[in-house]
Amino acid sequence: MSDLDDILRDLVLANRILAHEGVVDAYGHVSVRNPTDPRRYFISVSRSPELVTRGDIVECALDGRPLRSEQRPLYLERFIHGAIYEARPEVMGVVHSHALEVLPFSISPTPLRPVLHSAGPLGHRIPVWDIADRFGDTTLLVTDMTQGRDLAERLANDRAVLMRGHGFAAAGRSVREVVRLAVNMPRNARVLLDAIRLGGPVKGLSAGEIDRRLEMRPDGNEFYRAWEYWATRAGCADMLADRPRSVAVAKPAAPPAPARKKAAPKKAAKKGRR
Ligand SMILES: [Zn+2]
Repeated sequence: MSDLDDILRDLVLANRILAHEGVVDAYGHVSVRNPTDPRRYFISVSRSPELVTRGDIVECALDGRPLRSEQRPLYLERFIHGAIYEARPEVMGVVHSHALEVLPFSISPTPLRPVLHSAGPLGHRIPVWDIADRFGDTTLLVTDMTQGRDLAERLANDRAVLMRGHGFAAAGRSVREVVRLAVNMPRNARVLLDAIRLGGPVKGLSAGEIDRRLEMRPDGNEFYRAWEYWATRAGCADMLADRPRSVAVAKPAAPPAPARKKAAPKKAAKKGRR
């Protein structure tokens, strides 16, 4: 199987996982940058992520044009992906979601911030982008590159950006990492909102704790464990073809053999010859 096959398989898995974990529903999408040509990315045609198969994946230029003639409709908001790839060379995977859990933080002055250990990789700041600031009354959907670039500008060098009254966009160094960010972001929002309802001060992750989480390798075994779990829950265990390569497996030590036991087979052998 080629690297490209691996990438496209992960992209299909990412669609299924995000759907099964409730991050996307009929709407929302995930993409992966082409590692051999950073000016292109792969994304499904306009289809709900739970239904996406390998045959639905198309390749687009960063400006959203499909590279091959395509009769099927494409996602209206695919410009979110191209604009983020254009602005952030290190980003290899993008998710756009309408998860309800994060929306209160997009329409109120209370910022969304990491309060769960697993949400630490979301980083120190989760900005809010309001499409009305520059574009006035719209459908709130990102329907061209000008709007996409404005969103990417608001994201700047952060991991995720809230979109006022709409959803969020997240950016990762791999499609697996961005799936993890997108799964943990609504969970973090839910816990933060519950804590706020309890009243009193809410203790989130400290700046140092967020730094420690950001230092963790995105391809570590502890993260593959979640990928495998989510894929299996989504009914896609048969699509898991790899194991993390970075983990060395220790060889089991041979048990010490007492001298007496070693001698026993010799006696038996001698006996056998007689
Ligand atoms: Zn949207």
